[in-house]
Amino acid sequence: MAEEFVDKRLDALVEGIVRLSSGDLSARMEVSPARDSMDAVISGVNLLAEELEVFYEELEQRVRDRTASLHAAQVELERMAMYDSLTGLPNRTLLRRRIDDETLPAAVRSQPAALILLDLDAFKAVNDSLGHSAGDQVLIEVGRRLESTVRETDTVARLGGDEFAILLPQTTDEIACDIAERILHALRPAMIVAETSIHILASIGVRCGEAGQSGEDMMRDADTAMYVAKNLGRSNVQVFHPAMLHATHERFTILEELRQAIPAGQLRVYYQPLVSLRNSTIIGAEALVRWEHPDRGLLYPDNFIGIAEESGLVVDIGGWMIDAVAAQLGNWGDVLDGRDFAVRINLSTAESRAPGLADLIDRALAEHAVPTDRFIVEITETSLMTDPEASSANLLELRELGVGVEIDDFGTGYSSISYLRKLPAQAVKMDSSLIEDIATDPRQRKFIAAVLQLIEAAGLISIAEGVETADQSRILTELGCCYGQGYFFGRPMLAADMAAVITGGLGATAGGGDPEADRAIGNLRA
Ligand code: C2E
Ligand code: CA
Ligand code: CA
Repeated sequence: MAEEFVDKRLDALVEGIVRLSSGDLSARMEVSPARDSMDAVISGVNLLAEELEVFYEELEQRVRDRTASLHAAQVELERMAMYDSLTGLPNRTLLRRRIDDETLPAAVRSQPAALILLDLDAFKAVNDSLGHSAGDQVLIEVGRRLESTVRETDTVARLGGDEFAILLPQTTDEIACDIAERILHALRPAMIVAETSIHILASIGVRCGEAGQSGEDMMRDADTAMYVAKNLGRSNVQVFHPAMLHATHERFTILEELRQAIPAGQLRVYYQPLVSLRNSTIIGAEALVRWEHPDRGLLYPDNFIGIAEESGLVVDIGGWMIDAVAAQLGNWGDVLDGRDFAVRINLSTAESRAPGLADLIDRALAEHAVPTDRFIVEITETSLMTDPEASSANLLELRELGVGVEIDDFGTGYSSISYLRKLPAQAVKMDSSLIEDIATDPRQRKFIAAVLQLIEAAGLISIAEGVETADQSRILTELGCCYGQGYFFGRPMLAADMAAVITGGLGATAGGGDPEADRAIGNLRA
């Protein structure tokens, strides 16, 4: 009887152990009323099973936790690969993916998407003058303003640097242009960064989608349009047009030809007189580069200086100008004897911060026995802001040599008078855009009067450029402006004509076939 009882429990125990070992950790065996050693073994196995079950549950929980955090890390990695860490906006990769989603044949919709590319103007100046963290803040704020300008279904992306893009699914040309204008408008209000009020402008290219167009082409075309916008001046919108591709190709050709222009002797220096407004005497000239192109005729800087700047070739052109002007000043020798006469040359941004600039000028002047005070460099505020330390060092060296320094295009950049006082400059040239309406707009006249007073208070000489009429000249004289330059006094001319003007006064040019006069009519820029 007892044997049979033991056997039954043994069977149950064996069966239980088999279930446990096969993974069924919930298996338990019943303990008999006998409470003997067999029952002790059964309780022991039950306890073990209990512990194993708890242990397994914990293990499973840990595996679930680990899997969840691995998944989170994976999601984060994907996010990092797809989003810009500074602004949190989608990056180039994600944008490309979304453009492909819109343009792949399978996704073609009745209305294709439009793409807007946007590049901030003069952002580098913000970074250089206010520091990188200020620059970062500007980028974040731009991202925020862009996002608030478009719909949720649109993608605002940061492509890197100061370049942004917006993908507008199913958008007509008209709406895309509207949005581009709205963006310019949204960027307009000043941003306060590092306690400075900053105005951000942007150049915008729009590519309106076409059926069957690839995402890659769409990006390239929007980029081309943006490039055209940049070159047309700041703060404007350009819609892609196939002719623009031709223009890009054209720029490339011009660059290749320009490389040959210096060795081939195709560059010319034109001189435009500067006049004292007090006594109408000629006090100097500005040297302006021209390119006598064998096929295209006489080209003006607008046609090639921008291209030269982008490629760095502008430094070679500048070096050539320095030599050519030094040689000309040397040649004029007798013509200039006893006269107050200095030639100004324009420094590009790249030149203004190039190490050894003062040395280069010093050597060129020495070679032609030209006194250093016959030579003046013109530098724009924007150039100065781009790399204040390098350019200030160069300007100080030039000043020590006795070479003059003047600020060009004053009134077009981030002008600040307190900043003017710190510059190693002797004169400030007011941009022609400030002078334009002086004879017709009394408010502009008051404004110029104030600017002139400030320039004087900073201990600097004032120069007005772009003086085209007798009225403008008279008003500027009355307001106390020191010097004037412009078509009213004389157009840019070749050295021989300039020599005649220096000795014989204005109106003494050789005349005949003056290409500068044609320029206003014919316009070789086209
Ligand atoms: P900028 O330095 O402001 O030079 C003055 C420009 O105004 C010249 O144009 C000149 O011909 C033009 N101008 C003179 N008087 C008048 C006037 O009464 N009315 C109007 N509307 N315009 C007038 P240009 O020669 O075409 O030069 C354009 C720009 O190209 C210059 O502007 C300067 O920034 C740049 N540039 C010229 N030569 C050089 C150079 O050798 N090196 C560099 N880096 N830049 C140069
Ligand atoms: Ca100039
Ligand atoms: Ca100027």
